Formats: sequence, structure tokens, C-alpha cells
Amino acid sequence: MKALVMRGPGSIQIEDVPFPVRKPGEALLRVRYIGLCGTDLNSYRGRNPLISYPRIPGHEIAASIEEIDEGNSEFFVGMDVTLSPYTNCGTCSACRNSRGNACQFNQTLGVQRDGALAEYISVPVEKLFSARLGLRELCLVEPLTVGCHAVARARVSSSDTVGIFGCGGVGLGAVAAASFRGAKTIAIDVDDGKLEIAKKAGSAHSINSQQQDLGAAMRELTDGMGPQVMIEAVGRPETFVAAVELVAYTGRVVYIGYAKEPVTYETRLFVQKELDIMGTRNALSPDFREVIMMLEQKRFPIDSAISTVVPFEEASKVLAAWDENPTRFTKILISFDSPSATESDRHVADQVEFA
Ligand SMILES: [Zn+2]
Ligand SMILES: [Zn+2]
Repeated sequence: MKALVMRGPGSIQIEDVPFPVRKPGEALLRVRYIGLCGTDLNSYRGRNPLISYPRIPGHEIAASIEEIDEGNSEFFVGMDVTLSPYTNCGTCSACRNSRGNACQFNQTLGVQRDGALAEYISVPVEKLFSARLGLRELCLVEPLTVGCHAVARARVSSSDTVGIFGCGGVGLGAVAAASFRGAKTIAIDVDDGKLEIAKKAGSAHSINSQQQDLGAAMRELTDGMGPQVMIEAVGRPETFVAAVELVAYTGRVVYIGYAKEPVTYETRLFVQKELDIMGTRNALSPDFREVIMMLEQKRFPIDSAISTVVPFEEASKVLAAWDENPTRFTKILISFDSPSATESDRHVADQVEFA
């Protein structure tokens, strides 16, 4: 069968690889759509410290069940599913705390293990999720769970006002999940296009922090108190610091972003405000179910969030184009259903002029 193999940074092509052997307890899946995210771009660029090569990428997955053990009541042959791409060791401190999402020895499909940019994969049945969703929606579940988990960490409820720094893929998931829980969400970004999509995902207010005085705008929207929750999905020292400055007294701050440089804090704010400051990583099964429910209720603008759909044959080309022009794409989906791809897929694919 065919798979997309990354031999090293910048080196990626379709190759023939062995067909997966399904073990008992696993489901053989025919891959339909794969979403790409910043992790895949970083792997392509050689800037993902967790990856080893050669590697088949792909961890945002929509697939159809081809073969499964008989007698499974929830899943059956022909059913469309998505899945959790994380495996955990079961014995580390995080796993013992039922928080396998933060497993010390986590392996993610497409990063530490071969992923799903292949015609078929075989995965443990307990990783699967069924849903009343189309294939593209199924493909968006995993990227949205990361923001959803941050919202769960912050214990967001309908009485909260939540400020969210960064409306890229991950931050957008947090905007959608917080809004889905009934909170008043304030989306903050420097890109009006992203703020527009955040609005469609449920944000009550948006602030372009390059054009507005962020502190003043936040105070105005929160009766001068600041939001109860601040979620940081950018990963820059300024936004790490601003989150504790903007949040209300006794508020919760959740960090999703990976800051690549050290951050200098006025730590007295932690004490004075008696803050809960938390990290968040990956996602758990309840996050998958919450996102699926949100998508089933049509609470997320999937068409606005997907910028490009290309056939599998053009996957390496689109990665190269994304590498050259990172701001041009938001969400890229790779379709395995070509050449019998749907008309709308073709239409989108035709609009992509490769650099
Ligand atoms: Zn991803
Ligand atoms: Zn573990």
C-alpha cells in the first residue's frame, strides 16, 4: 500500500510500505482524510524535537472501519470514525492519576510512532470514537480536543468570562469549547481573519491586540475586574505574562502554548490574586466526546476553519508550499478519496497554486 514517508527534514514522498497486520482487539481502518497541523510542519522543517525519522506523519484522522473483531456492539465494518492518536505507558505518575494525556512516555501517532498518512492503519478499538458526523468533521475532532482540554482544566462554566490569547487551530478550539459551555469568551489575536473565524466559533467579543489597548478593552468587557479565566495559546513570553496581569483576582490561568524562551514574571501577582496557574497537554476521552457533541450540534464553523483540501498524491507538495508560506494556510486536509474526490474537494484543490 502507499504511505507518505518523511525520510528527514524537507524530504518526503509517497512510498510502498507493508500492509498493516490487524491484531486481536484492533480495528483495520481505511484512511479517508488526514488533517495537518503545526506539529507536522515542524516535523517537516526538522524543528520538532520529539520526532525521529523515517516517519509516516498523520495524527488527525477520519477513517472507515474495514475489519474488526466480531461481537463489538459499538463499532462495525463500514462505520466512519475518528480516534485518539495518543498512547500512554500506564505506569508513570500521570497515568496513575488517570491523566494519560500527560504521560511522561507519551507516544503520538505520526510523531514517535508511524501515523496515518497511509492507505490503511490498524489501531486498538479503545482508541476509536463514533459520531454522527461527516468525514471532514471527524477529521477536525482531534485538533479541537486540545483547546477543549484546556477549557476542562480551567473548569469553565456558563458563569465565567474567558479570555483566550491566540486564535490559531488550538486557540480556536478553546474559544469554541468555552463558548459551548456557555461562557462569555473574548478572543484575542493580531489577525482579523482569525478573529472573524473565532466569532463564528462562538466568541462574544474580539480584541485585535495590535490595534487596541488590550488592558483597557479587557477591563471594559469585565466591569473592570478582568476575566475569571485566561487561556494562553500563543507561546510567547509577553502573552504568558499578560495572562496573569489580565486575569481577575482568584482567577484561573491555563497555558497551552509552548514558550521557547524563558519568561520573567512579577510573581507577586500569583500570590496577591491567589491564582490557579495550570499547564495543559493533549486531551482525554471526555474531551473527544465533548468536541464530538459540539460538532454534532453544528456549533463550529468547519468550512471557515478548513483552508485547503488536497488529494493524497499532492500531500508532499502542499507541505512544501506551507513551509514556504506559513500564513497562507490555516487547516489543510489531505483526502484519500481522490481521484474519485468529491467535486468540492477538486474545486478547493484547483485553487491551490503551489509555490
Ligand atoms: Zn495536530
Ligand atoms: Zn504514563
